[in-house]
Amino acid sequence: MSPLVSLGDTQAAILGAVTRLEAIAVPLGDALGAVLADAVVAGEPVPPFPNTAMDGYAVRADDTVGASADTPVRLRVVDDLAAGRAPDVPVGAGEAIRIMTGAPMPDGADAIVMVERTRRDPAPAGGGGGQDEGDGVFVEVEVPAGQHVRRAGGDLTAGQTVFEAGTRLRAAHVGVLASVGAATVRVFRRPRVGVLSTGDELVESGPLAMGQIRDSNRPMLLGLVREAGLEPIDLGTVRDDEDRIVALLEDAFERCDAVLTSGGVSVGDYDFVKAALERFGALEWRQVAIKPAKPLAFGVVRGVPVFGLPGNPVSSLVSFEMFARPALLQMAGQVQCFRPEVLATAEHDLARRPDGKLHLDRVLVRWHDGGYVAGRTGDQSSNVLSATALANGLAMLPDGDGVAAGEAVRVMLLDSPPDH
Ligand code: AMP
Ligand code: MG
Repeated sequence: MSPLVSLGDTQAAILGAVTRLEAIAVPLGDALGAVLADAVVAGEPVPPFPNTAMDGYAVRADDTVGASADTPVRLRVVDDLAAGRAPDVPVGAGEAIRIMTGAPMPDGADAIVMVERTRRDPAPAGGGGGQDEGDGVFVEVEVPAGQHVRRAGGDLTAGQTVFEAGTRLRAAHVGVLASVGAATVRVFRRPRVGVLSTGDELVESGPLAMGQIRDSNRPMLLGLVREAGLEPIDLGTVRDDEDRIVALLEDAFERCDAVLTSGGVSVGDYDFVKAALERFGALEWRQVAIKPAKPLAFGVVRGVPVFGLPGNPVSSLVSFEMFARPALLQMAGQVQCFRPEVLATAEHDLARRPDGKLHLDRVLVRWHDGGYVAGRTGDQSSNVLSATALANGLAMLPDGDGVAAGEAVRVMLLDSPPDH
């Protein structure tokens, strides 16, 4: 039996073997989830011009001195300015312009009085004011210069570095880039990841003959690739036939940046993925000191990393999470490639037996009474994918007898904790 290799050593070896893909220019609309290859510098200020933060009246602050609800100041309203229109008259002494949020500050005005601190004169409902006085507004508050005015460049100035290279673009980043007029951005290309299932027993649809099962790994792995923000490519299912696996991989190397296979990597007699990788002269196979997902075949063929994940669906998922996902994210230019971990309190005994391996139990982490708690989601056998689907974390149980109820356990989060 070959010796077990530690999780950390295996991860380090794999991350050391895969390289970041090249930088490409993409339209901003395609950039969500990608990693910036270059820093982005603002080509224009945000906001582009001084404008009002409130609906109200643009005034000269000096005109409001002494104004209060009891001693309002009456100003003459000379214009009405909605967002999107350039002002065409200035605000002179004793004057005001009705203005809506986002509209540019008119010349002459240096402050905004919010509409809630004003009264129209005459009142809009035809209440009394003399027509000779014209359209007026009573200002009931004294405002300092600059009140409720958004400065040009108050968010970002032209020439300012908006985001550094290496930033992973979330929706708010995309919004900011749009705000400075960045129509295209340079990001690292995200890997196209081929997914292939192997096994004579696999069927895709229809009734099952005795001995057959449905292929669950491929849809799951395609989904995991997509959830990671990468581009999945369905390579289908292949029988346990070394020549056919080799032929399929040959084709995959032409159109994929990485390949995930499942099945055929343990120590059975039909482990043809190992054999196929060996034909390419690239097989690195190891038994990792974790449970589930002990066997892992890995190799880089013509620059394309191939992850030979184990066949049992839970093992396939865990192996993807531990080895493939961090490597694929590194290819996509990400700096932080690992899932976050939290400390949680074990809700019940997370017992295990000593076997020299780190156990990765499928648990549900939730917020309870001011802290995280974690409990197993069901049967921990490596074929029971349903219990994994209920989990949002992998509890890391070090070699030994496990973690007792009430003790702290480290959990790698696969998903957010449920709402509380
Ligand atoms: P293997 O690693 O090929 O020996 O497969 C280990 C176990 O996983 C066997 O019970 C297989 O039937 C099962 N298995 C392999 N591939 C898949 C798959 N794509 N979907 C569901 N189960 C699978
Ligand atoms: Mg198999």
